[in-house]
Amino acid sequence: MVRASEGQSDWIEGFLFVANHIALDFLNTKPILDDGPQELLTNGDALGRWLFASGIVTGSREKAIVHRWSDSDKGDGLVRDLTAFRERLRAAVTRFEAVSLPSDAFIAELNELLTKYPRTVALRKKGSHLTQEEVFDLQRADNLWGIIAAAAADLFSNVDAARVRKCESCVLHFHDTSKKGSRRWCSMNICGNRVKVAAYQSRVRKGQG
Ligand SMILES: [Zn+2]
Repeated sequence: MVRASEGQSDWIEGFLFVANHIALDFLNTKPILDDGPQELLTNGDALGRWLFASGIVTGSREKAIVHRWSDSDKGDGLVRDLTAFRERLRAAVTRFEAVSLPSDAFIAELNELLTKYPRTVALRKKGSHLTQEEVFDLQRADNLWGIIAAAAADLFSNVDAARVRKCESCVLHFHDTSKKGSRRWCSMNICGNRVKVAAYQSRVRKGQG
């Protein structure tokens, strides 16, 4: 169970960012809170706030573009489709964690999205040299699919499956980027300390009994 009051730093604007990978942060938009599973992407407005909190959309001009569609029927419809996709992604991630590939149907769905919403890059000046940056035109809300599909494709092709794990104590998933590769919890603040305290209390009780 995740308590919003704990581990403030793991929460940004009411969303959790503990996964070290945007596809998994997207998956973690339905955590279990005090009163059960909670949908954080409730509507288009919430999706807009998640895009800002995740750092996918930065800059006031870009935010204004998202605001044009986020709090509308279009935004709400997109959220319904995205959250349905998120649950198919959850099944694929669960398989991946068991070192199995996502289903052929899911790979085909991702490929369709990658074709329909191709990545585009642009050159940007960074000091004295040029770098390539991905460009997302979010004038069209649908283009958000390109970002989500690219993130999922990156997860399944560039990340070591042995380093992708579900928290031992809750429903959140993460990419373990620690040196030792022994991370067990979504976050020390959220689950780690609670599990350790419970184990300590259990030892004390047994010692007293
Ligand atoms: Zn957890």
